[in-house]
Amino acid sequence: MSDENSRALYDRALSVMPGGVNSAVRAAIEPYPFFVQKGDAGHVIDADGTRYIDWVMGLGPLLLGHDLPEPVQAGIQQKASEGPMYGTPTEVEVDLAEFVVRHVPSVEKIRFVNSGTEATTSAVRLARGYTGRNKIVVMQGGYHGAQESTLVEGDAENPKPSSAGIPQSFAEHTLPVPFNDEDAVREVFEEHGDDIAAVLTEPILGNYGIVHPEEGYHEFLREITDDHGSLLIFDEVITGFRVGGLGCAQSEFGVTPDLTTFGKIIGGGFPVGAIGGRAEIIEQFAPSGPVFQAGTFSGHPVTMAAGLETLQFAAENDVYDHVNGLGDQLRSGLSDILADQAPNYTVTGTDSMFKVIFTREGPGPDSLEEQCEAGCRQNPTCPRYDYCPKNAADVKNAETERWRRIFWGQMKDEGVFLSQNQFEGQFVSYGHTEDDVEETLEAYKKAL
Ligand code: PLP
Repeated sequence: MSDENSRALYDRALSVMPGGVNSAVRAAIEPYPFFVQKGDAGHVIDADGTRYIDWVMGLGPLLLGHDLPEPVQAGIQQKASEGPMYGTPTEVEVDLAEFVVRHVPSVEKIRFVNSGTEATTSAVRLARGYTGRNKIVVMQGGYHGAQESTLVEGDAENPKPSSAGIPQSFAEHTLPVPFNDEDAVREVFEEHGDDIAAVLTEPILGNYGIVHPEEGYHEFLREITDDHGSLLIFDEVITGFRVGGLGCAQSEFGVTPDLTTFGKIIGGGFPVGAIGGRAEIIEQFAPSGPVFQAGTFSGHPVTMAAGLETLQFAAENDVYDHVNGLGDQLRSGLSDILADQAPNYTVTGTDSMFKVIFTREGPGPDSLEEQCEAGCRQNPTCPRYDYCPKNAADVKNAETERWRRIFWGQMKDEGVFLSQNQFEGQFVSYGHTEDDVEETLEAYKKAL
């Protein structure tokens, strides 16, 4: 399989862009990223003309795949042809805002921005402005974009910036706790309760192997934040309009956060972010309130049209049945393959998200008949419950080297494009077919 063109492009890129890429995670592809020429339904074709089944789907935004249905394409082209943007409001922003308010339980008002990072940055500022407090509780292994308040590692006793360029004094306002650990959250509230502006969490950790909340965890977070006058923020940049359909993950879990951040699907494949929530809190954003927030490109008409048409198409067609059905097939096919070939590994995911975690610990061959119920949502009655990852530490212990050597190399050679590292989730789109699933399962069988 030739990759001459990708290699030549990467050489050129290295001389003009740091690491040859415009986003850190793209450099995780070794020895170099393949450059994509174009997409086609559930596939991409690289610069050397090789076709891959694409389970990365732009890292999540492409619910409909690479071939946008006619009304979605028409909506985007219409807006682009009318002059891309104006610096003053347009009707399509209101249309998309109304759609989200109608479908997402916690959202009474919404502000659109340009990325998930901008959404979480603004949500944290809003929570601080609304409560008059400084500290944010986050989950170890959660990801909220490339921003100062959340690029923090360590624990609540000893938070440290996880990137150069962030002062230690910033990190001190962030309290990382293990996901699914109620005691750890109780402890930080006992110690800092009066100064905690918000708990910020993904409803399902989607950037760390796909880790589900245990039964009652989100209800617990809702209660403890209420008791202390702190806000609960769900970061639904990945799960929004993917898990739980148009109601998002919060409707699936039946827990209503104060604020929700969105990104990815809500912009139909164009740069986007949004912060939605209780009107009284969202109204604190300038110009109606004192929390400054602004952006030249925010509510961009082309993005708004892409998001609106995508979500409307999903509302009127069998999109969620299709992607969730293929997700089930993938997870259950993978569970069978693992039972046979790698019983210590675990399939995770739900709806249209999936991942294989290379966990080292697990039931031995004697208990092979007791396989994980795919997408079990951490069901305590599942026989493999003890072996499902519950937090970042469980996933971190997985065999990440193996991911790189076998899966990335071998699956790519089999024509399957998986996420760039062991931790990121993979996504099914409306463009994928049952044949794509079958071919992918065959490739996993060979690779394992
Ligand atoms: N929040 C979550 C849960 C994400 O997964 C991401 C990106 O993957 C972000 C925030 C940041 O979004 P963006 O990359 O659009 O800035």
